[in-house]
Amino acid sequence: MNPRVMTPPGIKAPADYIESVMISVEAKNPAEPEFHQAVREVFDSLRLVLDKHPEFQSARILERIVEPERVLMFRVPWFDDQGNIQVNRGFRIEMNSAIGPYKGGLRFHPSVNLGILKFLAFEQVFKNSLTTLPMGGGKGGSDFDPKGKSDNEVMRFCQSFMTELQRHIGPDTDVPAGDIGVGGREIGFLFGQYKRLRNEFTGVLTGKGLGWGGSLIRPEATGYGCVYFANEMLKSRKDSLEGKTCLVSGSGNVSQYTIEKLLDFGAKPVTVSDSNGVIYDPDGIDREKLEWIIELKNVKRGRIRDYADRYKKAIFMPTDIKLEHNPLWNIKADCAFPSATQNEITAKDAANLIKNGIQLVAEGANMPSTLEATRMFLDMKILYGPAKAANAGGVATSGLEMAQNSARLTWTRAEVDDRLHKIMTAIHKNCYETAEKYGTPGNLVNGANIGGFLKVANAMLDQGLV
Ligand code: NDP
Repeated sequence: MNPRVMTPPGIKAPADYIESVMISVEAKNPAEPEFHQAVREVFDSLRLVLDKHPEFQSARILERIVEPERVLMFRVPWFDDQGNIQVNRGFRIEMNSAIGPYKGGLRFHPSVNLGILKFLAFEQVFKNSLTTLPMGGGKGGSDFDPKGKSDNEVMRFCQSFMTELQRHIGPDTDVPAGDIGVGGREIGFLFGQYKRLRNEFTGVLTGKGLGWGGSLIRPEATGYGCVYFANEMLKSRKDSLEGKTCLVSGSGNVSQYTIEKLLDFGAKPVTVSDSNGVIYDPDGIDREKLEWIIELKNVKRGRIRDYADRYKKAIFMPTDIKLEHNPLWNIKADCAFPSATQNEITAKDAANLIKNGIQLVAEGANMPSTLEATRMFLDMKILYGPAKAANAGGVATSGLEMAQNSARLTWTRAEVDDRLHKIMTAIHKNCYETAEKYGTPGNLVNGANIGGFLKVANAMLDQGLV
């Protein structure tokens, strides 16, 4: 049967069809609230598409797009420095390969579970589609916590993790990268073990070191890209980042390069954080302070509270789980760049940001705003750049790293940065115009979800029932 004309029994109105698939997603994937949330957010936008494209419903694209093509879960045993056996759980979700090999990061964090990785893999499908590059969606990781581990322990863990993962990935099959807890050190150990086991030097991972196949600008790309995207959003209202006070959360890869690019644009970043608390520096975080943070986090692997000892005017607010809001989002500022983790902006945080006159929220982290917070930003007509568009610069530059590896060439810093900048501008244009075309001008959530979905859904139709 041709899937283009396949008609399931009892065609429903789009809204009913969407709701019935959503109910089935919740029933089939119990105890995975983040996955439900990510699907719900996309589905909310798709009603507008299904009204115009009944063929997607006929071919049951929604039921197919929420179902991973493959889920891998495996044991990762390793020895710690005391000679004790440790056992972690490893995962890879190969979500969708309609438009290219699976592509998406690896996260090492104690909170990692199947539901978190399914939400991330699902988001990745649409994000990768928006980049304009040929990449499918995937995500993986482990509940291993690199914090407090020695380099040797991290290496032994990475080697054990890759010993299993290597059977499932490859430069034309599935190309992982970094995410929370997986930076240059971990990618190095993972790549070394892949090369040793497979006896081949290929672009099987991105985020590699510059001397062995990495791309210039890849470490900077997510943060830089997010700021380029924010700049495009402001331009649409004839405004700019110049002189704007900015809140940035987290102090890892995305936060660091968001701050650097904000400084390039003449903005004033005033916050950073980690899981132990928030730093507020009313004088602003300048280049010298940023260099100090990068050394603290990437080399000494220290805690952000030390910033307040080094820079006396800064205030440290420890994390207080009894507090119903994050004090970082209650500081008066023009723009917010959540760059730590999912659901870090709750409805209460969104209310605080709005009360204090926030003009723009650009998401460096994946799904940092709850559904309620997202709706509040949209209702208030705040410039709101959803993660799958605003943070797509990281994976886009991973795509550029893959292109350089395939061609066995390396591009200059200026060339990669220029391509990244153009891609972010194109993503913004696509989201902006798609939102307008589907009758919701300015709603970049709809723009991103619909723009990302259409390319993947059409490829799925073309490729038949697979
Ligand atoms: P890093 O591990 O480099 O940094 C993460 C930062 O967020 C750290 O400061 C960490 O603090 C903080 N953080 C993590 N989890 C929590 C938590 N549960 N509560 C409070 N703080 C937390 O990761 P990245 O910068 O790479 O990733 C940050 C976000 O950006 C993630 O959502 C990731 O998925 C997203 N992203 C990353 C991309 C990339 O290229 N790296 C690409 C696209 C999106 P602590 O050290 O205390 O854990």
